[in-house]
Amino acid sequence: MTSILEVNDLRVYFHTPRGMVKAVDNVTFDVHAGERFGLIGESGSGKSTIALAIMRLIRSPGRIESGEIRLEGENLLALSDEEMRQRRLAGVAMVTQGAMNSLNPVMRIRQQFADGLNSHGETVTVDEAREQLVDLLARVGLKPEAADVYPHQLSGGMKQRVCIALAMSLRPSLIIADEPTSALDVVVQRQVVQTLRQVQEELDAAVILIGHDMGLMAQFASRVGVMYAGKLVEEGPVRAIFRQPEHPYTRILMESLPSLDEKETLQVVKGAPPSAADRPAGCVFHPRCPFVMDRCIQEEPLFREVAPEQWAACHLHDEPAAAHSLSREVAE
Ligand code: SF4
Repeated sequence: MTSILEVNDLRVYFHTPRGMVKAVDNVTFDVHAGERFGLIGESGSGKSTIALAIMRLIRSPGRIESGEIRLEGENLLALSDEEMRQRRLAGVAMVTQGAMNSLNPVMRIRQQFADGLNSHGETVTVDEAREQLVDLLARVGLKPEAADVYPHQLSGGMKQRVCIALAMSLRPSLIIADEPTSALDVVVQRQVVQTLRQVQEELDAAVILIGHDMGLMAQFASRVGVMYAGKLVEEGPVRAIFRQPEHPYTRILMESLPSLDEKETLQVVKGAPPSAADRPAGCVFHPRCPFVMDRCIQEEPLFREVAPEQWAACHLHDEPAAAHSLSREVAE
């Protein structure tokens, strides 16, 4: 399968007066053309920082320390600021957490759409721009009148759909949706995710959905990556990750999901995630891991393929007996 996005050994650090914060540390993954990829993890795990790094929107004191981000083979980190500005929207577009943060409150939607086209050198008349926008709004289930209003005249779900429509405007090959449903009620959340899915199929674009709602992820993604404390700890097909997680953190996340059939006590990850400025040595998950071994405290596990198309960073996979106990407990 062709990779549309390749992220290799990405490191994003924040240089603060209290020390260096490794927000994203040595993360590698790829996204295939036309794929729906999910990035899951707790708040502060580095998911949104990865999205901002792909868009080259990391602000000081943050810095991309090293690594490579290739979009359709082109290294985005080697582009000039102007070249990168042109790639945004045309090559990679982003739908952010709060629609209000990305929409200009004092401009009508059609003006914002026309601005996006103009800034990429598209020469269209006001009428042509409105016609294109109305077509995009229809694709996300909105009426033509939405083109003529200010953002505050729309509901939260409508604003998020407008953002998806704007993200489609130059037919990018990759759309990043960073927790697009976090401020919405459950019904509207489902609608927005369905809209995103329709858009992805229509454009045949790849979509990265960032979030922490496992139900939404299962509904949307075909492959997922699990982030913990700035590290990608597991990655694989969504069915495999849900049925047979290969990392203890993922396993506990799965066991924390409620089920209608089983009324057992839900599992929680004991303790709190480590401070980003003071990550533990060895495996970052070791202070909370029920399977911790001596070597986990000293030695960082490699991120490697542990089952067909499934990757994880855990020493258990070097210990056949211990790995067996992990899979047996999951299956039970
Ligand atoms: Fe747990 Fe060790 Fe695996 Fe880390 S490497 S997840 S501490 S068993």
